[in-house]
Amino acid sequence: MSAVRKDYYEVLGSSRSATADEIRKAYRKLAMQYHPDRNPGNKEAEAKFKELSEAYEVLSDAEKRKQYDQYGHDGLRSSFGPGGFDFSRDFTHYSDLQDILGSMFGGEGGGGGSPFEELFGGGRRRSSRTAGPQPGADLRFDLEIEFEEAVFGGPREITLPLTEECETCKGSGVKPGTSPQTCKQCAGRGVVISSSGFFQVRQTCPVCGGTGRMVVHPCPTCQGGGRTKVRKRITLRIPAGVGTGSRLRLAGKGESGSQGGTAGDLYVVLHVREHALFQRQDDDLVCEVPVPADLAALGGDIEVPTLEGMARLRIDPGTESGKIFRMKGKGVPSLEGYGRGDLHVRIAIEVPVNLNSRQKKIMKDFRDSATEDNYPIFQATKNRIDAFYRRKEEIQKGSST
Ligand SMILES: [Zn+2]
Ligand SMILES: [Zn+2]
Repeated sequence: MSAVRKDYYEVLGSSRSATADEIRKAYRKLAMQYHPDRNPGNKEAEAKFKELSEAYEVLSDAEKRKQYDQYGHDGLRSSFGPGGFDFSRDFTHYSDLQDILGSMFGGEGGGGGSPFEELFGGGRRRSSRTAGPQPGADLRFDLEIEFEEAVFGGPREITLPLTEECETCKGSGVKPGTSPQTCKQCAGRGVVISSSGFFQVRQTCPVCGGTGRMVVHPCPTCQGGGRTKVRKRITLRIPAGVGTGSRLRLAGKGESGSQGGTAGDLYVVLHVREHALFQRQDDDLVCEVPVPADLAALGGDIEVPTLEGMARLRIDPGTESGKIFRMKGKGVPSLEGYGRGDLHVRIAIEVPVNLNSRQKKIMKDFRDSATEDNYPIFQATKNRIDAFYRRKEEIQKGSST
């Protein structure tokens, strides 16, 4: 230790009049730059980092800074042990280093969790053994429902596979009647000082996960984990008008929290099964209704299904197959709470089959009496066919137009 000791202010690039905050900022900036994790194997950076830390240890402490300002390095003899400043023994600003590591690896603050847990692999993140209340997770549950359930709504019971706080031990993981012992690894402090490279860091105790306690007799129900798998039945109310992709949020019905943490939410995502009679188009319904050929020809009333019950629909004489009648407001109730979609009735003309001899005779009589006027569509198509072949012939003869 015969080398000339560098001036602490110089080391941090600060002036003698720098405020505590300026000192801290200077240290943060330089410590990040020379941090051994950023400079693996670089002895120079390591030495520089130790130097910075020593300077910061002194200048961040009002009393030590005063001593140093007055008497220089000699004024600090009593502050550090024999041999002067020793990083692993004398450095006390782990929280500042923690900040720096946090911003080096994964953003400011790191989302509330100690960055050391991830950095040094010691801590168990979000485990049931982590101290303090933990909120439960939000859950997604996909539920297939019938068309009828979707348009009419109603109660529906579902069974959720959940993990909940163990009832036997109330989440403590400790067998009732026994008590946990103080963790030997960390002596109950929940943190351990361990060596990372040349310097020492505090980290969450890997043995007790930061709780400072050791479960000697684990709860027989949850094996000490504090949570058990349960199949929970809950009844949800499906609102009328839901469709595929509709999402129901049930606040607090997700995974339960532990140690007093709030429960997560349950999101039920609906999938509506296809229906044989009605097709959904948002809030509209489409329904195909077969109509006897004679009724379509003569006109008259047909019965059509609606959500309320059978309804009467007037068919004009000569109604074609495929024609759509719109019944306003007979569709699905809107989820917004007011208004309804429409019901579209598509006509499908059914040709009679299994005719008896009398019916056959009637049909033959009708055929014999039919004229072009009875079949205007047939007639129009026949004209197009004739035009097509006429044109073909002209082209093949070589004449133009
Ligand atoms: Zn238990
Ligand atoms: Zn421990």
